[in-house]
Formats: sequence, structure tokens, C-alpha cells
Amino acid sequence: MHRSPKILAFSLLFCAIPAVSLPQVAAPPDRQVVVTVDDLPVGAAQFMSGQEITDMTTRLVATLKAQQVPAVGFVNEGKLYLRPGEVDARIAALSQWLDAGLELGNHTFGHTGLNRVSLKDWEEDVVRGETVTRLLLAQHKMKLRFFRHPYLDVGRDLQTRRDAEAFLTSRGYHIAPVTLDPWDWAFAPLYDEARKRGDAALQQKITASFLAHCADMFAYDEKLSRELFGYEPPQILLLHGSNLEAEHIGEVLDLLRKRGYHFVRLDSALTDFAYSTPNDFFGEEGPGWLEQWAVTRGRIPQGEPPFPLEMQKLRQTLLPPPSAPAPAVP
Ligand SMILES: [Zn+2]
Repeated sequence: MHRSPKILAFSLLFCAIPAVSLPQVAAPPDRQVVVTVDDLPVGAAQFMSGQEITDMTTRLVATLKAQQVPAVGFVNEGKLYLRPGEVDARIAALSQWLDAGLELGNHTFGHTGLNRVSLKDWEEDVVRGETVTRLLLAQHKMKLRFFRHPYLDVGRDLQTRRDAEAFLTSRGYHIAPVTLDPWDWAFAPLYDEARKRGDAALQQKITASFLAHCADMFAYDEKLSRELFGYEPPQILLLHGSNLEAEHIGEVLDLLRKRGYHFVRLDSALTDFAYSTPNDFFGEEGPGWLEQWAVTRGRIPQGEPPFPLEMQKLRQTLLPPPSAPAPAVP
């Protein structure tokens, strides 16, 4: 970029004043973020033993607690019953979240997308997903109060969206939006496969790619926020229960801190003006809330960083083809 002579002259003048000392690097803006972790007890619950889930949860929860991140985990209770004899271990993993002072919400029993079944069937799956979580919360003197839409499916048409929202409100839920989504669910099975093969170099490569993608996505969403609102509302980050997060969430938190974020609670974030602005989005795909607000205002957001090509190729070579049974759900 070329500087104009006027700016250059101003810069030289500025530099010539000895009494003024400027910091070398501008301080990052003051930003807020809520950390949310979906698909508990773990995304790949069908592939993991009770012990593996316990180990994964212990590590993930320890980092969140040590760094005083008031995270909310969203539960698919259907994942508790995938292996007979391991139900108690899986429930104990959920208890670990609450014992650490974190919160749990509902993500439906079977990870059921609102765009994939009838509204009635979806509502039944919401109710079915409350049983154990509500009990565990009550044991910790807490109430079930947050809901996260699987696949971020908010409805194929506006009426379905509004009916589902009214249903959730009638059951005492606040909907947990998403504004930062670095697609960790797409990196997580690659990481698991590299881990299973004992390929530390590949694990490192996948982690580095994930963290780079996080930085790109955060920058994109921060810019889109400013374009939509003139400021950056408290962001709501979507992560998933996985070995990738258990072993590297600390690096995601470091990245956020470097960008000026501090960690806030979901209920406090939702009081921000942005979350009460109109959102009339509906459609087959479930984008994040920033995109939903943009579409509501007649804008088609452009320039979202694509999932890294190298990782796309790795998914094709490392993971079973789509015809294989039981792929991990996002
Ligand atoms: Zn999910």
C-alpha cells in the first residue's frame, strides 16, 4: 500500500516529537466471548469407551475450570445409552461438568435437526433430552435453562421457526445462538484417527490447521459483527466435546485472549442489544446468527473462510467413505 505524501509528512512530524512514546503494538479491543461445547458427553460417543470418555472429559473440564471459563455444555442424552454397561460412566462424565461449576443445557436426545423431522417429532426429542440433565442440574441446585439447536437448524420456514421458539420458551428455555463457529467437529475425527495411529506429527498438523482456521473465522465474524451492528456484541463460540478440544482447547482460549477476549456467561451475553434484534432467517441450512441477521436485513454475507483444502483431502483419505456405517455427527 502506498502512503500519500500528506500522511507521510504527518508521520515524519509525529516521529520527530521526542516526548511522545507510542506502544509498539496497539492493544487489542476489549471483547467478550461465551464458550459453549456441544454433543456431550462426546461427539464420537459411538466410538469411545466409558473410560475414554471419562479421560477426555477430565482433561477438557480441568482446563475450563483452571482458566475460569464459565462454559455451557449441551447434551445429547441419547449418547448415554450407546453401550450397555457404560451408562453410569457416561452420566458421571456429565456430572464432572457440574462438579466443576460449569453449566449444562439440552441439545435434544438424538441430535435431531428441526429441518429433518416434523415439528412434533422434534419437540418430543427435546423433551426426551431433558431427563438426566434436569436431574443432574437439580442435584447441583441448578435449573435446565438453555437449548442449542442441532445443526443450527432453526426451521425450514418462518412459521416452524416461530412455533419451535414458542415451544422452547413454554418449557423455560433460552435459545443459545452461535456467532463463532470454527468447525472443530470437522477436524475432530481426523485428529482421532491420527491419534489412533500414534502419528504425533499428523496430530500436530491437524491442530495447527484448526487453530489457523479459528483465527480466520474469528476475524471474519468480528468484521461481520461491526458491519451489522457498528460494534462487536459478546460472541458465542461453538465447540464440541472431542479429544481435539480436550487436548488443545487451551490454545483456542489463548488465541481468544490474544484477540482481546475475556470469557463471560451465556445469560449475561444474551442481554446485549444484538440478541434482541429481529431474526427472521429460515432455510435448509443452519448458518450462525451473524449470517442469520445479515440475511434478515437482505444481505448475503460473502467471504467466509472455507474449510482448509488440505483437511478436506485428509478427510477423504483418512476417514471411512460416507457409505460406511455410523459416521460421527456434528
Ligand atoms: Zn451438535
